Amino acid sequence: MLSIVGIGPGALDLLTGRAKERIAHADIVIGNERYISLIKEIIPERAEVIMSKMGNEVERARMAIDLSRGKNVVLVSGGDAGIYGMAGLVLEMVDHTVPEMIDHTVELEIIPGITAASASAALLGAPLANDFAVVSLSDLLVPWAEIEEKLVSLAMTDIVVVIYNPSSRTRKSQIERAHQIFMKFRGDKTPVGIVRNAEREGCEVNITTLAELPRFFGSIDMSTTIVIGSSMTERLGRNGRWMVTRRGYNRKYGYDRKKDREKRAENRWAASSSASEAIWIRSKAIAEKIVSVCSFNNYERRVAERIVFANADPSLLRFLVFHLNPIERGAACIKARKPVVTDIEMVRSGIKYEHVKCFVNDTRAWELARRENITRTAAGIRLAENLMRDGIVVIGNSPSACTELAALVRRGIKPAIIVATPVGFVNAAEAKEEILRSDIPAVVVRGVRGGTPSAVAIINEIIEISREL
Ligand code: SAH
Repeated sequence: MLSIVGIGPGALDLLTGRAKERIAHADIVIGNERYISLIKEIIPERAEVIMSKMGNEVERARMAIDLSRGKNVVLVSGGDAGIYGMAGLVLEMVDHTVPEMIDHTVELEIIPGITAASASAALLGAPLANDFAVVSLSDLLVPWAEIEEKLVSLAMTDIVVVIYNPSSRTRKSQIERAHQIFMKFRGDKTPVGIVRNAEREGCEVNITTLAELPRFFGSIDMSTTIVIGSSMTERLGRNGRWMVTRRGYNRKYGYDRKKDREKRAENRWAASSSASEAIWIRSKAIAEKIVSVCSFNNYERRVAERIVFANADPSLLRFLVFHLNPIERGAACIKARKPVVTDIEMVRSGIKYEHVKCFVNDTRAWELARRENITRTAAGIRLAENLMRDGIVVIGNSPSACTELAALVRRGIKPAIIVATPVGFVNAAEAKEEILRSDIPAVVVRGVRGGTPSAVAIINEIIEISREL
């Protein structure tokens, strides 16, 4: 029998009855040094104890599975074994190495424990009384870019965020970066709870504001959990002793007059500007905040904001590439009244400029496509060959048009800049990569995504920039 047991944050009286019972009947107890030392008083003398170092999780899981045939093995994990703990890994290992075990040979159970979030929340007050999310800042197993993307989405959403693994001896920058991201989206005074060694020796509980959080960076470590409040989070009691996130009872029962007054004032502001203007300003502001965490120059930033705004999709930023200063070059082209060539009519009609050409519906494109057995959009691009020298080419939709453009570039045709955001599972990503390998300045949405709205957003922002030159 293999029991994967969450032992809670540390204090023995916070172990569940079931966890204690399994430990009392264990033949073998496996865990890392820290967890074993927390529970050593209740490990029966006859039980064999196997301690392993932090970081040996895979080995520990494998050993526990192997030993559990015919013996009561307890694998201990801090807090809850299923929350950044051993339970997931053991199930994966069983599935991977001995799939028949998952249902038959090994009897497997997972016993929940009090996780750091709930232990810390109880010490702070009730910060998790409304919706919340949990993020680990450890990038040992997850690429930092992915973590950062989650942080940006969560920081934008009005939700309480609990941070696990905020910092370690070798990882200091992550919490600083997370703080910068939250500062972009949340008020300076947002309450933040910092709990170190919850329910263990050396327990420290602090409540501060988002702006003041850096003062604690020196003491934030592997045993710290951080709770970042939402707009519903407040400090209550003398000296703001408790951190509480309101659930909304105050709204329903109207006992909070001050908040209601603030809400009304906010509503008045919204009513005073026209409805569409208010929406536009708010979405622009959101796009600006999202892009502000990226390292672009000023012009690039404006183009990036426009793409995020047009698609309402921050994740596109990950795929956006500016190759060889395309924006200045493109704006200069527009100022010099150079032509713009597009792959499809929809892209053409979205561009706010007089010299835009698209040959997809030209009868010559139909003939060329039939004769050469190529797509009509590719034929349209081939027909524009002379027009595109020193001009701008915008491929917003068609991968085959982009492939054709890449072939023309290979043959020495040199547009001044290329905007390439074609979409599709077949050939789009490859064609765009080929454009990026060329020496033509380009704005590209890499991979399979992109589309007409992105292409139009890019070129229209370039057109606006050209008016300022
Ligand atoms: N399975 C554990 C979490 C493991 S990840 C659980 O459910 O609690 C390790 C992280 O959990 C630490 O970096 C820290 O952020 C948090 N943590 C674990 N124990 C803690 C404690 N006693 N006090 C504060 N934070 C703790």
